[in-house]
Amino acid sequence: MVSLEQETLKIDWGTIWVSSVADICGSHSSAVLVLTRKENPSFMKTKVAQIGKSGGNFELVEREIPEPGPRQVRVKVEACGVCHSDVFVKDGLWPGIQYPRVPGHEIAGRIDALGSDVTQWKREQRVGVGWHGGHCFVCDRCRRGDFAMCVNRKVTGIDFDGGYADYMIVGAEAVAAVPDELPPEEVGPFMCAGVTVYNALRNSGARGGDVVAVLGIGGLGHFGVQYARKMGFVTVAMGRGADTQALAKKLGAHHYFDTNSGDTVANLQKLGGARIILATAPNAKAISALVEGLSPDGKLLIPAAPDEPLIIPMAPLIAGRTSVAGWYSGTAKDSQDTLEFSGLSDVHPMG
Ligand SMILES: [Zn+2]
Ligand SMILES: [Zn+2]
Repeated sequence: MVSLEQETLKIDWGTIWVSSVADICGSHSSAVLVLTRKENPSFMKTKVAQIGKSGGNFELVEREIPEPGPRQVRVKVEACGVCHSDVFVKDGLWPGIQYPRVPGHEIAGRIDALGSDVTQWKREQRVGVGWHGGHCFVCDRCRRGDFAMCVNRKVTGIDFDGGYADYMIVGAEAVAAVPDELPPEEVGPFMCAGVTVYNALRNSGARGGDVVAVLGIGGLGHFGVQYARKMGFVTVAMGRGADTQALAKKLGAHHYFDTNSGDTVANLQKLGGARIILATAPNAKAISALVEGLSPDGKLLIPAAPDEPLIIPMAPLIAGRTSVAGWYSGTAKDSQDTLEFSGLSDVHPMG
């Protein structure tokens, strides 16, 4: 058996892909962690980058290479996205985190070992692991097939050790197959921001030709604009400043509304109102102001939590039969669909 020694842990800031717009999104991927390894057959241990305690810094520590349980697989990590949500682990902002903990939920790698009961994956198969880290199969929600809403669902890199490591162990149900054409460093962002907005839009009730408006063009939003266009919606991007227009158009927006100038609600209503507003900028005030830009039966869909509560005037919701809703990520199969759709329709994380 060949084991790997991780000689250096390098955050390759040269591959930052949304840092320039992180202030708009503020909640999703901003860099790619690149693990550099050296083959060393005599060395049976591996290294992980863990957080030892709430508020602690990253520590590079040596561990035994973990073995998968009967229904688990071991993934040899090739790349892991760095996400703002990793701060939940670093600063202890997620209830019940047990330390030490290895963060990282935007994982690309290969199946390295299979548990005895795993039949659906093969060794060396390319896979991704995302935010949804598994489900129990036995709670009432699982029994209804709604695995994302499992009462015992796990989050990768929070409830169990994630991808800031050479190897990680995960339930076989939480693994997505990766299409051959996608390089490892592109996979990570799809496993978090990508699946969240892809899955939000495809389940939103909007139909081809409907107006879908995306607020914010950061980690989530830049995917949102691309998916809205590729899914056949009249695509509106809404960002701050005229400078963002060129980016919005490049991502496929038919229309760009600068929220710093002009009346965004009036502009939306000129298009008949938005069937869906996907609010990816975690700014409560900006989100609340858009309710009146919805079409009848429109929905304001929020996949990233603003820091402040929303204050929503109810009269327009009642008059237009509109609604405000959250959206929660998706399962590994949703991630796999995201990867496949993105490959087929040329959607990419922004370089
Ligand atoms: Zn993430
Ligand atoms: Zn369950």
